[in-house]
Amino acid sequence: MSCKCGYRMFRLFTIHPDSYRGDSHYLHPQLIKLIHPSLILSQTVIMRKIFLALAVCSSACLYAQQTNTVLKEQAIADLQTQYNEYKTIAFQIWDFAEVGYKEIKSSALLQETLKKSGFIVEPGVADIPTAFVATYGSGKPVIGILAEFDALPGLSQTNAPEKQSAGKDAGHGCGHNLFGTGSVAAGIEIKKLIEQKKLSGTIKVFGCPAEEGGSGKVYMVRAGLFSDVDVAIHWHPADENEVTTTSALANKSAKFRFTGLAAHAAAAPEKGRSALDGVESMDYMVNMMREHVPQETRIHYVITDGGKAPNVVPDFAEVYYYVRHPDKEYVKSIFERVVKAAEGAALGTETKVEYEIIGGTHDLLFNETLAGVMQKDLEKVGGVMYTAEEIEYAKKIQSSFIYKIPEIKTAADVKPLKKEADKATGSTDVGDVSYVVPTVGMQAATWVPGTPAHSWQAVSCDGTEIGTKGMMVAAKTMALTAIDLFTTPGLIIKAKEEFIKAKGSYKYEALLGDRKPALNYRD
Ligand SMILES: [Zn+2]
Repeated sequence: MSCKCGYRMFRLFTIHPDSYRGDSHYLHPQLIKLIHPSLILSQTVIMRKIFLALAVCSSACLYAQQTNTVLKEQAIADLQTQYNEYKTIAFQIWDFAEVGYKEIKSSALLQETLKKSGFIVEPGVADIPTAFVATYGSGKPVIGILAEFDALPGLSQTNAPEKQSAGKDAGHGCGHNLFGTGSVAAGIEIKKLIEQKKLSGTIKVFGCPAEEGGSGKVYMVRAGLFSDVDVAIHWHPADENEVTTTSALANKSAKFRFTGLAAHAAAAPEKGRSALDGVESMDYMVNMMREHVPQETRIHYVITDGGKAPNVVPDFAEVYYYVRHPDKEYVKSIFERVVKAAEGAALGTETKVEYEIIGGTHDLLFNETLAGVMQKDLEKVGGVMYTAEEIEYAKKIQSSFIYKIPEIKTAADVKPLKKEADKATGSTDVGDVSYVVPTVGMQAATWVPGTPAHSWQAVSCDGTEIGTKGMMVAAKTMALTAIDLFTTPGLIIKAKEEFIKAKGSYKYEALLGDRKPALNYRD
């Protein structure tokens, strides 16, 4: 037998709420111990009292469940009435297409939306001009919702179903225009319920800039902004509807800058020392190293500056590296070997090298308790239904893929919760949040099935109603999960117990050390 409102039941027996553990203990052994010696009642009287209490409890339970269902129905319906407003905001941010730490207009729009709804907004947190925390309510629990809004450089695309540049420097190829707006929508919905006194506690929306390589949330975690948060909720655009069970690859990135001596490349090459030689020697050594690192390691680089003209020996060159692995300890040690390759390259080419850590993110701690709750909510909300016009658009998008693609109708499905986590393939700074507060997330089908992230097809979908409909699936599901957390205190206790166990003795330490936010990493 399980009881969703165990807290109330324990109060009936006048046991301190602190003794409450989880949501499935209807008759805790402590309870019997306490009743027996203190009341000295006959077994029959005790049994009668217990029976009576259980009867009261089950009706209280039923009442709580009914209230919970009513609140959820209200949240779903209300969010739907706001659809056009949120769609407009999402399209505006899609249009702004601002890259990491430059999201001035996008961040301002979301802050303004939250302020208009009654949130108190603290801008410029963690020494990042575009980061913010919006708060409504007071007391416990404190539920946090993460919002992202940065675009990707070089992915300019219109919302047409064929490759067509919008003539900009960047595009929303990861759907963070939807991510930010959907999270704000969920936060505002919870705020309304707190205002109406249907929920009590605090809702916070975290405006998190520069997810794409800038590690924005890491600085926010480092600044202690999550210290009073009980649970963090997030989501991500995708081509399917699924609660996230996948971890993330821990990641450490840096820019290596070589300096040499400029000289005429033909007339006086012996007088020069090529910084590009330094970069190329480093890359060669790192490429050799690939054979001698654990299998799951991922190392990638781009030469961001290789000199300006072939007839000038370059006196400056820069290469930008990512080192990833599911285990952050491996990331740290492999990164040190990459640094050795840089130093060796500088020595051999008689150049100098310096490096700047750009980002560093943890793997993601999965929370099964919270994932189970979110799964039920996602199933209640359901997936994305396409109109006939959208099906035609989707067919065109799918015709551009060169691999096997899922059926279009799968956008309407909700995937079952996986028992075991998939192998991590990407990295996210949500990982760092998941190491300081129990965290749960989901993906919603904002992209035509088969669409990969960071593609022109994703940018296109993020600027259509396929994108915004998927966004509303996420907004509704996150609001429902927050309602569960506000109305069932036992869930938070259970999630925290699981979180503490999963984290073990690990003490959080940012992989990027104590550097200040890399506000110009996109320059
Ligand atoms: Zn993303």
